[in-house]
Amino acid sequence: MKKDTGQDRSITGKWRPATQAVRGGTWRSEHGETSEALFLTSGYTYDDAETVAARFAGDEAGMTYSRLQNPTVAMLEERIALMEGAEACRVQATGMAAMTTALLCQLSAGDHVVAARAAFGSCRWLTDNLLPRFGIETSTIDSRDNAAWEAAIRPNTKVVFFETPANPTMDIVDMDFVCALARAHNIVTVVDNAFATAALQRPLDFGADVVAYSATKLMEGQGRVLAGAVCGSEAFINEKLLPFQRNTGPNLSPFNAWVVHKGLETLDLRAMRQSENALQVGRFLEGRVPALLYPGLASHPQHDLAARQMKAFGPIFSFLVENRAQAFALLNALELVDISNNIGDSRSLMTHPASTTHASMGQDARDEMGVVEGMLRVNIGLEDPLDIIDDLDQALAKAGL
Ligand SMILES: *Cc1c(COP(=O)(O)O)cnc(C)c1O
Repeated sequence: MKKDTGQDRSITGKWRPATQAVRGGTWRSEHGETSEALFLTSGYTYDDAETVAARFAGDEAGMTYSRLQNPTVAMLEERIALMEGAEACRVQATGMAAMTTALLCQLSAGDHVVAARAAFGSCRWLTDNLLPRFGIETSTIDSRDNAAWEAAIRPNTKVVFFETPANPTMDIVDMDFVCALARAHNIVTVVDNAFATAALQRPLDFGADVVAYSATKLMEGQGRVLAGAVCGSEAFINEKLLPFQRNTGPNLSPFNAWVVHKGLETLDLRAMRQSENALQVGRFLEGRVPALLYPGLASHPQHDLAARQMKAFGPIFSFLVENRAQAFALLNALELVDISNNIGDSRSLMTHPASTTHASMGQDARDEMGVVEGMLRVNIGLEDPLDIIDDLDQALAKAGL
């Protein structure tokens, strides 16, 4: 049997992200299975009482309960950490479980958070509603403006939190600048990297401390399960995140972890091809709609910054039509692209953020972020881009564009 090298960082540490996505963290059982084994078990048994006592005391390595450890889940955590260039990773049941855990595990009443105002709706709900209920102050700012980050920092600021590109406005954050600023003030930078993944952008390389994920999106990539992940230093994961996660229980099911493993095997391929397809479809659409927001196109005001940070620009972009009626007419005329609020899927999907993903945050927050009634967000999939273009062409015509 070939030696099991996947958990040995003296070997895996040399591999590049695309190799990590296929092989990093592989932990084979005594059967030497090729594909990752699925350990669908909540607990473990022991040969004797002394063994379990030693494991609970921390004197002996080994599994005790799947809220604390599970082999399929541990394999995924090691794989994601290696892809990200992080010392450690823990996975959660959903992207929002990951964001909530990443923030609450390190914040206390009296602390202050600076967050990007352009964010996924539920991320805004955390900063606008949840954190303040526990005495944590928050400021939301225009994340494209370096001076705004600097101006928002207070003596009690503990965390800065942002997405880049942001959902759905596609704002880009200057990570070199913001991470260095945060570090100079002893502030932890938490980046929600769902739109890019390690295949396209690694925030730790730009000085971020913590990378948090909705693995539901591009990582899993085929619209099957929800999942989340948080990556950071050993100290952050072991001292801050683990005590919180182990006692509050936002854990990922081993079955869902296994499905994410299958998704990661093709992540690099999908991320690169979907980025190419998105560029091609974006170029077609740009001439037909009043405005299109895609960091991959020279028309995006932060194209150069995005190009410095990203290997490719991802499958997602937004564009504007006149108003909600025209946006709905376009959605209803689609024949190939599905009306769906998911992203990162291998299928092309389109949604109207103001009435779906960003509906609950309220009009004021939408106005401030620029989520207007005529905005549509697209995820470009793995179909032939010419078929996607044909579908958009006929739908645009039916919507009067
Ligand atoms: C989808 C998404 C989330 C939430 O992830 P779930 O897996 O749906 O809980 C968080 N942040 C961003 C940027 C997202 O797109």
